Amino acid sequence: MITKIVPLKYLTSIRQNGCITVNYIENDRDLDNVKSVIGCGSNVLIKNTKTVYKLSPNFGYIKINGNVVRVGGATTIRQFTNFMINRSLSCIEFLSGVPASVGGAVFMNAGAFGNEILDFLEYVLIKTPEKKLKIEKPNLNFSYRNSNLNGIILEVGIRCRKKEKSQIIEKIVSSIKVRKNKAHLRNTFGSVFKNPKQNLPAGRLIEECGLKGRAKGTAMISPKHGNFIIGKGLVNVDDVLFLIDSAKNEVLKQFSIELEEEVKII
Ligand SMILES: Cc1cc2nc3c(=O)[nH]c(=O)nc-3n(C[C@H](O)[C@H](O)[C@H](O)COP(=O)(O)OP(=O)(O)OC[C@H]3O[C@@H](n4cnc5c(N)ncnc54)[C@H](O)[C@@H]3O)c2cc1C
Repeated sequence: MITKIVPLKYLTSIRQNGCITVNYIENDRDLDNVKSVIGCGSNVLIKNTKTVYKLSPNFGYIKINGNVVRVGGATTIRQFTNFMINRSLSCIEFLSGVPASVGGAVFMNAGAFGNEILDFLEYVLIKTPEKKLKIEKPNLNFSYRNSNLNGIILEVGIRCRKKEKSQIIEKIVSSIKVRKNKAHLRNTFGSVFKNPKQNLPAGRLIEECGLKGRAKGTAMISPKHGNFIIGKGLVNVDDVLFLIDSAKNEVLKQFSIELEEEVKII
């Protein structure tokens, strides 16, 4: 295990202020007694945690096995989509532009444009406190932005199919373009809240409350998209939490809807 003190601006996509101790897991032996890891920090807000664990690039690999690609948990979505382009393989283009790791995307059951990563999974290999466990697709019990997995995702099998390279690139470019137009690609942790089952999406509810553009310190509810908080420079966790609470309270007051955070506050 390699331990370093790392500025949070490099560990969280919203670019938090401060530093934290990071233990980088180099091999299977380092996994003993580790209960959770962070990925690329694109849906994480560090509040009280003083030490985090993170899979090192040793867990970032991609290996083809027929139509199923074995992908290490630390592989980034960007690395994987580049691989897809090079090999003319189509699967999770809809996640292009999401600054996540494959492990994090599977843990969160990341989705967009009516798709979710679960639809493309063949298996997930996790490390629980007791053992390594390979869970095959029929036994994956995922739901909206939730994998219900209790362990560290070391590897996943993703089913791909051959497609014209130009079509894959077209889908990737269009996904990134839509994301850029609708919301933001940087200095944010993506959706703050899950969309409630009933009624309007969380972003619209926050917008209807007139909260777009509300700022605290360097943090701001995006003027473009109500469900995004963005940083204008490094952000303080308390400022972000203040905006999260303001949005929750206002939506509850005006719509009697209790928003649930998608972002993991740790
Ligand atoms: C610009 C932007 C756009 C986004 N767009 C989308 C979108 O379209 N759809 C969507 O669903 N989300 C989106 N997100 C949110 C975020 O990218 C996803 O939730 C992503 O899956 C998080 O991956 P990560 O590697 O950054 O995980 P982190 O944010 O580091 O961690 C998130 C959670 O996953 C756990 N975790 C991470 N890695 C592992 C692992 N290997 N094993 C077990 N648990 C793990 C962490 O403990 C934590 O609880 C977006 C975020 C940003 C910044």
